[in-house]
Amino acid sequence: MAKLKDKVALVTGASRGIGAAIAKRLAADGADVVITYARDAAAADSVVKAIEAAGRKALAIKADAADAAAVMAAVEQAAKAFGHIDILVNNAGTAIPKPFVETTLEEIDQVFGINVRGVLVATQTALKHMPDGGRIITIGSCVGERVLTPGLTAYSATKGAVKMFTQGLAREVGARKITVNNVQPGPIDTDLNPAAGDWAEPQLAVTALKRYGHVDEVAALVAFVASPESSYITGANLTVDGGTNA
Ligand code: NDP
Repeated sequence: MAKLKDKVALVTGASRGIGAAIAKRLAADGADVVITYARDAAAADSVVKAIEAAGRKALAIKADAADAAAVMAAVEQAAKAFGHIDILVNNAGTAIPKPFVETTLEEIDQVFGINVRGVLVATQTALKHMPDGGRIITIGSCVGERVLTPGLTAYSATKGAVKMFTQGLAREVGARKITVNNVQPGPIDTDLNPAAGDWAEPQLAVTALKRYGHVDEVAALVAFVASPESSYITGANLTVDGGTNA
């Protein structure tokens, strides 16, 4: 039987990359899935179509994670359309790799607005619609725990923040049997972090497996954390980084 039958998942930033892989994997496991995106409606639509082709319901909502009102409205729209939200995956995120001294105030606001504020707002709104036994999963990063390469200072600070957000919130919602976990990828080949990009070489060098990861390798861990089998895992930071932080 499908592990996520009758479950509704909301995945933020899921028109491509890791989010799209997570959305499709949760649908393959039986969930109906709402995705958000920032710009690319056509890409979001292709994810919706893939999910529908797999026999599940899907909906794409445009909502910039940096815009709190848009995030709140998207979560409310998802809950209204599907009745409840069992699984929230806070995936939307961005990085602006550059030396910290050259990072502008606008860039700091952007990366914190999307990676931290957006996560908190989506989670707070989703909790209003989440039945007991729900799942909150945030996509942090292995650099939220250890930083082995330069250029990611502000980004690392945001991923360290969601790590502690996860641990704190786990204490507050445990009585409702809601689990809160932080999945921390290492270098994963996406538009944000292409395996052939300028910043790839030092990241590759510090993996134990000597390769970039695939989006499906992150989606597999998220699918496990979203499933009933992970019921005793909460407040955890689960790393899927090819041994980067080993
Ligand atoms: P991509 O840039 O490849 O994809 C980002 C996705 O998020 C797209 O669907 C994009 O939609 C959407 N998105 C971007 N900005 C916003 C926004 N402001 N509001 C809502 N949606 C937005 O990123 P990845 O798949 O690589 O990263 C996903 C998550 O994984 C991020 O949180 C990232 O920090 C984390 N991560 C990634 C790693 C990697 O190596 N790739 C490593 C560790 C963590 P649209 O196309 O419409 O803009």
